[in-house]
Formats: sequence, C-alpha cells, structure tokens
Amino acid sequence: MMNIILIGPPGAGKGTQAKRLVSERGFVQLSTGDMLREAKSSGTEMGQRVAEVMARGELVTDEIVIGLIAEKLDSVAGADVIFDGFPRTLAQADALGALLQARGTQIAHVIEMAVDDEALVARITGRFSCASCGEVYHDVTRQPKVKGRCDICGGTEFLRRADDSEDSLRVRLMSYYKQTSPLLGYYHAKGLLRSLDGMGEMDAVASGISAILDS
Ligand code: AMP
Repeated sequence: MMNIILIGPPGAGKGTQAKRLVSERGFVQLSTGDMLREAKSSGTEMGQRVAEVMARGELVTDEIVIGLIAEKLDSVAGADVIFDGFPRTLAQADALGALLQARGTQIAHVIEMAVDDEALVARITGRFSCASCGEVYHDVTRQPKVKGRCDICGGTEFLRRADDSEDSLRVRLMSYYKQTSPLLGYYHAKGLLRSLDGMGEMDAVASGISAILDS
C-alpha cells in the first residue's frame, strides 16, 4: 500500500501525471476536483453550492472535500492511492493524516510539481477544444490548420473551460499561494516532501515521479 500526494498550482499537470500512474502502475486516483465536478453535474443541492465557488476559482469548504475523501477512502482500502488536488489547506492535511492513521496507513511521498506562473497563465488561458472530438488547441501555440475548422474531425464548434479564463486562473493561483503552498513547509517538516520541475516535457516529469516512487 502506497499513498502519494501531488501538489502544484492549477495547470501544473497533476491530473495528467495522476492518470499516467493509474494506467502504468495501477494506482487509484482520488481527485477532489473530479468528485466536485461530478457533484456539480448531478444537480444535487451540494452540487449547486459548489458550482459557483468553483467558477470563481475559490476553494470549496474543508468540510465538503474532507467528507468526499473520507467516503472514498473506505471503498479503496488496500489500494495504492494518488491524491490529486487534495489536500489544499492545512486543515485538510491534518484531516487526511488522521483518516489514514485510523486505517492503519500513511503518506509515503508528497510530490511538488513546480511551475512558472506566467508560463502557466499563457498556457491555460489560450486553451480551447473541439466541441465534437475534444482535440485541444491553443490561441498562440496551436491553432487549427484551417481557421475555425478542427484538424481531426472537421468540426466547427469550439469550447473553452469556464474556469480557464484569466480572471479565474489568477484567483486559483492566489488560492494556491495563500492556502495550499503552506503545505510544502508542513510536509517538508515531516520529511515527506519531494520537488520536481513541472515545466519539463510530460515524459520527463513522469520519469522524475517514477524515480521518486522507486527510491
Ligand atoms: P481541480 O480540478 O483540482 O483544479 O479543482 C477544481 C476546483 O475544485 C478548484 O478550483 C476548487 O474550487 C475545487 N476544489 C478541488 N479540490 C479542492 C480541495 N481539496 N479543497 C477545496 N476546493 C477544491
């Protein structure tokens, strides 16, 4: 049983790397962002409440996300777990420690994916995708070959994520620095923190993570 946490600002590639670890190493991914998006689309009362908070780029309450994680932990007992986007506050970190301890397990590594803010803003705010096949494009770095027409499927409708606007991203970044970055000191003090450069190629970042897991 190995529990690991991925920490980094929005757009650092936590989700991408987590999905790789799921397919290559059999980890179970627990992403509070994914759980909250599910709750949002399920149309429950809680879903409605969190939708607005998420759209603004602010953090959902500790109570809600700790509840979601506590519920999931029981269904993944015995598995290797990768926490993606959780914990994001010191209160969540304490709660996770207690939840794991009560289940006779603990955190093995906390992996920080460090990135450059301005590059991040440029990377995320230019993002859009084809509405029919999902192919991802970028205003500056990757326009379709024929303007307004998807290279892959020929679709002419494109989408942008509501929380990928520059305003929302700036709020998400500020939430990261104010509320989440203190966790780096917290886990450093516990001897669990490992940092790597998240700006590299996806494969290079993946090998960096592998090296940590095999150490
Ligand atoms: P993510 O997909 O991890 O970027 O999360 C998307 C949004 O969900 C965040 O901007 C927050 O509004 C909310 N969220 C996800 N995880 C947490 C968490 N651990 N604590 C508070 N809010 C969260």
